[in-house]
Amino acid sequence: MINIRTEEEIELLRQNNELVSKTLAEVAKIIRPGIATKVLDRRAEEYIRDHGAKPGFLGYNGFPATLCISVNDTVVHGIPSGYELRDGDIVSVDCGTYLHGYYGDSAFTFGVGEVSEPVQRLLKVTRESLELGIEAALSGARVGHIGHAVQQHAERNGYSVVRELVGHGVGRNMHEDPEVPNYGLRGVGPKLRAGMVICIEPMVNMGSKNVYQDSDGWAIRTKDGKPSAHFEKAVAIREGQAALQLTTFDYIDEVLQRLNN
Ligand code: MG
Ligand code: MG
Repeated sequence: MINIRTEEEIELLRQNNELVSKTLAEVAKIIRPGIATKVLDRRAEEYIRDHGAKPGFLGYNGFPATLCISVNDTVVHGIPSGYELRDGDIVSVDCGTYLHGYYGDSAFTFGVGEVSEPVQRLLKVTRESLELGIEAALSGARVGHIGHAVQQHAERNGYSVVRELVGHGVGRNMHEDPEVPNYGLRGVGPKLRAGMVICIEPMVNMGSKNVYQDSDGWAIRTKDGKPSAHFEKAVAIREGQAALQLTTFDYIDEVLQRLNN
């Protein structure tokens, strides 16, 4: 069943995803070579709780942390650990919140120190494919329009999209209908209607699309060991206009610009 949200519910979902956006920016401030991923996780948990919310992922299906932190060939669902980030790594940070009975869920992939040009390009194209997916998320279109837009941009740039993991509706539960694949055909899948709130989250691999689950029971990794990028935003479908973005990367971009100057 696909939920249609009221304006009040969309506002609560916006507050959640605003908090996720700000939490990711807090994490951005301390990402650097030598920092352990569990330190990023601690900072995020502290920030979320300081703002009166709960971590959305902690305990979800038994997940042991606030953030999913996925480095290099880990696509998603990496468990924060003592691993210290290295110069040239990329790190997907996926964050969830629970506030006022609703969930937030968004992700951003950061470069650590000096990242090689081909890997920087993977990040840029994946982020662009998310924005193109959002542009396709119009009332009256179908879920397949989103996947088609994402897949086309990724594949035209020589990359592949993961099939096993998909975007999703978000609301009173972290994962609701519909599934939002990052591949597919226009005109296929459930129709998008005003008031639907979905997370669009391309996972784009530099090499082949094939993935496997790590022996820790969580981390999803590329079979060929090549890097994978992941960006995610929650959006609300609007009648006759572009989807309303409940997540913003503006806070992250401000932090990254400041650190680069
Ligand atoms: Mg997520
Ligand atoms: Mg998600």
